[in-house]
Amino acid sequence: WSGSSGGSCSSTVGTAAPQEERLVVVVRVRPSFEASERCIEVISGGSLLFDDGGKSRTRKYSYDHVFKENDTQEQVYKTTTAPLVRDVLNGYNAAVFAYGATGSGKTHTMLGPVPRKRGTASTPAPSNAPSTAAGYEADVNSQEIGLMVRAIEDIFLHIESASPDSACKVSISYLEIYNELIRDLLNPGGPLELREDNRGQRITVAGLSEITTSSRKEVVSLLVKGNKARTMEPTAANQTSSRSHALLSITVQTRTPLGTKQGRLFLTDLAGSERAKKTKNRGKRLQEGAHINRSLLALGNCINALSGGARYVNYRDSKLTRLLKEALSGKCKTVMIAHVAPESKHRDETKNTLVYADRANSITTKLQNSVYIDEIKDFPTKHYQSLVSELRDEV
Ligand code: ADP
Ligand code: MG
Repeated sequence: WSGSSGGSCSSTVGTAAPQEERLVVVVRVRPSFEASERCIEVISGGSLLFDDGGKSRTRKYSYDHVFKENDTQEQVYKTTTAPLVRDVLNGYNAAVFAYGATGSGKTHTMLGPVPRKRGTASTPAPSNAPSTAAGYEADVNSQEIGLMVRAIEDIFLHIESASPDSACKVSISYLEIYNELIRDLLNPGGPLELREDNRGQRITVAGLSEITTSSRKEVVSLLVKGNKARTMEPTAANQTSSRSHALLSITVQTRTPLGTKQGRLFLTDLAGSERAKKTKNRGKRLQEGAHINRSLLALGNCINALSGGARYVNYRDSKLTRLLKEALSGKCKTVMIAHVAPESKHRDETKNTLVYADRANSITTKLQNSVYIDEIKDFPTKHYQSLVSELRDEV
């Protein structure tokens, strides 16, 4: 997103293009926190059973992969993000989205256990969460570290073992979108403006800091500090709910004898996908809910249009999609990690997430066969029309 970005997929030298599939969809079931009734059972690497409590009761959903409750951060990293890191080092763009309701484990996946601003009786700060950025290295079991740090670590490892005639530069920027306002999480201050070049081809965030780094420790500290700066507001669903989208961009520039290639990895911790109704939102909370849904809706529309090979993709509907245009267009591989809670009391949100992920997943696989094109076109219209009318009702 910086002015210096080249976004140069085309400058890749001597490497194979990423595989055809554009969107990989996986589901991660977080551990249960209480001995209560469950609504999810993982039955194989790619399928799960969901008990919707209604007449039809149990339904099977299949995805590219389903992570069980005791699957490790490393397993999640290796399956979802490690392949993308290789593409990024070869000069491609790639993106990972953590999707799901508040409390389903998005931040855990992306960052790991994080310091909480405050604990409350109903949502105490987890015992595994360190209280300060400085304490992170010491407190957090390295096995619990999330995708963001693992990706950067992996990038450094690859660079160290790369051929001596290539020089690499790794830089990161970290921002949040809250109520359609962009804030720099590495240097918190007032809202930042989005700028477009004349043809709307390149989006930049004016004044966003981009920090060049060569140390894992520095990155951890920057991310933990940045995450503390995220806008946290209480809602009825979760006292420490995060109502903002957090976007980390890792840019790798490699100088080779034949020229410089640049790849970017976008790692996005999306705001909770829960509906405003469920969280009993009023006033400011309701406005946030509308903004969050608007950008998740816009993201879903873009992914769908891209997957369907549409000529025109509307990125303009939200800041999130405008920022991710570079990641979503061109030769970019995208992974969606949909997060769900296993307890029956979260059944509604779990179902919404499973259905959202299922639709995204079916688009990917059906793409290989043009017979299904009409079905693909059908999906967003029906789904989003009902979502829009629900939102109207709430407003
Ligand atoms: P979200 O970001 O979706 O709101 P969090 O990542 O904050 O959710 O997760 C909610 C709580 O559950 C946190 O205390 C987090 O540490 C814990 N948690 C989530 N996923 C896991 C997991 N896979 N293993 C252990 N704890 C988890
Ligand atoms: Mg979170």
